[in-house]
Amino acid sequence: IDKHEKELFGHPVGLYILFFTEMWERFSYYGMRALLTLYMTASTLGTDDRGAGLGWTESEALALYGWYTMLVYVMSIPGGMIADKLIGQKKSVLVGAIILCIGHGVLVLTDTWAFYTGLGLVILGVGLLKPNISTMVGGLYRQGDIRRDKGFSIFYIGINTGSLLATIFVGLVVAEWGWHAGFGLAGIAMVLGLIVYIWGQRFLTHVGNLDSGSKDEVDEVSYPHLYSDLFKSPLQLGISVLLVVLSGIGWYFMDWGYGMLFLFITAIAALMMMIYKELPNQIYKDRFVVMLLSFIMVIIFWGAFEQAGGLMNLYTDEKTNRVLFGYEIPTVMFQSLNAGFIIIFATIVAGIWAKRKLKGKESSSLFKMAIGIIIMGFGFLFMVFAAMEYQKTGTSNLLWLVFAYLFHTLGELCISPVALSFITKLTPVKYASLMMGVYFAATGLGNKVAGIIGESASEFGEYSVFLGILVFTVVIGGLFVAIKKPLIRLTHGAEDNEHDLS
Ligand code: GLN
Repeated sequence: IDKHEKELFGHPVGLYILFFTEMWERFSYYGMRALLTLYMTASTLGTDDRGAGLGWTESEALALYGWYTMLVYVMSIPGGMIADKLIGQKKSVLVGAIILCIGHGVLVLTDTWAFYTGLGLVILGVGLLKPNISTMVGGLYRQGDIRRDKGFSIFYIGINTGSLLATIFVGLVVAEWGWHAGFGLAGIAMVLGLIVYIWGQRFLTHVGNLDSGSKDEVDEVSYPHLYSDLFKSPLQLGISVLLVVLSGIGWYFMDWGYGMLFLFITAIAALMMMIYKELPNQIYKDRFVVMLLSFIMVIIFWGAFEQAGGLMNLYTDEKTNRVLFGYEIPTVMFQSLNAGFIIIFATIVAGIWAKRKLKGKESSSLFKMAIGIIIMGFGFLFMVFAAMEYQKTGTSNLLWLVFAYLFHTLGELCISPVALSFITKLTPVKYASLMMGVYFAATGLGNKVAGIIGESASEFGEYSVFLGILVFTVVIGGLFVAIKKPLIRLTHGAEDNEHDLS
């Protein structure tokens, strides 16, 4: 048999190639991300072992961090377009990986120009790599193969193994050899990812090529043509103009950041309208609408979930009793709980859904995603308890955090790998990477929302913010459960005929 048909543990070998490539890529991403704000705010004098930082204020650092984490994911849209239209997913991942190696390499240098150049390259590299490697996972499975969801869960374990290892080792290296050694370690990880990917090409011959799509799908996609069409439809043009005006208002009355944000959203909205028009038949159009609606859940989910790195992180640091058996657990270690729980529970959660499906019980992706929001939101109940305990006693038990992160992770497992898989089922292959890019842009937007909510805690207090998130997410999740029937109908059976093909 062909190399690409070889299987290991019931999945194509290609899955494991993508698993390890993405594991190292995420190691480099999360390793570098963990250092970023610390490095920016560290003093320029370099009085401790880690060496000189940039000496920025905390709010300057957080502002850049917010933009960076958003841009990284927003660049997935052009990254997806380049793959769909120009070079295919497989080459895009390759080019992205090379750019990432260079970017992390540049960050090893101590100059300021190197800092900005490095960040810029990482943004470009992730934009090219992340959406396309995710679409390739979908490409490993035929339409209707029930293993697809499970494959994405396995892939998701790779992501989190990378992030877990990074949060452990990058911190150690920085403490010992300084900031730039930490950036260097991220770079070495990416080189390993690149090597795995190049070596594994023999198992990926049939996925990620420009002609991997089936013939009945959209033949020609031309983006300039899509945008020029904008001017032919008064409705679409009207909506776009309105959004541009909003951008101007945002720019003028708030700050340039909000203006930029609205402009991004305008460009994406216009693109979505254009693609909708181009889709070949009503089935694809309906599915497209469902997918965009599901992205609302995605934005809300990440807007709440990403409190982890911000508000919950500060809470852990300042208001939690972190002493266990006489040992004070460092705050950063709480960030590893999420990845650790994913590695433990990913296949279990995927297995539960698969069993339900085979028994004929409801387990559409939309249902799972809505349940995911509710479970994650429920995790905030423990943060509400923590805030109550803190108000009474001046400290709070670390178990609240452990439970909160547990529920957040279980929720994440219901929504995040599921959404990746859902997109590859719903979109014509020719648009798959682009839509994956839009999905990641939605998560990026969620990150930004999280920052805004987190900041508001200084005004309203943690208790109210946690309670607010709890109520809001449970209501939204419940709402989507309530309207799931008509939505599922609009997917035109994209998930109906999944069965055991193995
Ligand atoms: N933690 C996951 C990853 O790094 C999901 C991030 C996201 O979708 N924005 O892939």
